[in-house]
Amino acid sequence: MTEIHTDGPESIGDVQPLDFLVVAPHPDDAEIGMGGTIAKMIRQGMRVGILDLTSGEPTPHGSETIRRAETIRATEILNVTWRGNAGLVNRELQHTLEARKRIASYFRMLRPRWVFAPYFHDAHPDHVAATELIEAARFWSKLSKTDMPGERFHPERTFYYFCIHLRLAVQPSWIVDISETMDQKLDSIRAYESQFVVGRPTEPPTMLDRIETDGAYFGNLIARRYGEPFATKEPLALTSLRDVF
Ligand SMILES: [Zn+2]
Repeated sequence: MTEIHTDGPESIGDVQPLDFLVVAPHPDDAEIGMGGTIAKMIRQGMRVGILDLTSGEPTPHGSETIRRAETIRATEILNVTWRGNAGLVNRELQHTLEARKRIASYFRMLRPRWVFAPYFHDAHPDHVAATELIEAARFWSKLSKTDMPGERFHPERTFYYFCIHLRLAVQPSWIVDISETMDQKLDSIRAYESQFVVGRPTEPPTMLDRIETDGAYFGNLIARRYGEPFATKEPLALTSLRDVF
């Protein structure tokens, strides 16, 4: 049975460090932004976590209970290694010192090599706040002489995934070929029925049609069927050019 960890960072206990942690303002953002990459990297043996910052509720057709059940289904579809919810307040997400300490504590306990945050330009205030909060928490997680749980730890990189609130013609830093996991990504998004199916227009293009079209567009840029774009502020370091195509 898949569990969403909601008891706070202090109670995480000993877990094997994650390869990367996707931090999402709301349950469904990780799936929309990088569900294909999450599924693909898990298939390749990486340990991948998702930390949702808020419940994402209220929404017109959702509730805390419905959204939690949907999150569990999506987590199972992607086969995510670890998932938690930080319990911050939806619609009121702010980069406060208290929130920074809480998220930094998750980083110290989960020890992800990389952290993925929403792209820094977004129309949703929760998303903009989340990105600032994640960047600051990454820095704080390496502090010594603090009462935060766990050992000091610094994720090596922060990378950015793209959410859908701002229709930007983005220039990604790189694109992952997700042709083999696009179905899994769409299924994980469909799991959030209260967000993308109930009460939504059924005439094309539906939300899911648009997500598929975006995937096809970014796939086209790398001559593959589907792709997912990412950004980085710092240059990407490669050990080899072998995987670049
Ligand atoms: Zn969101």
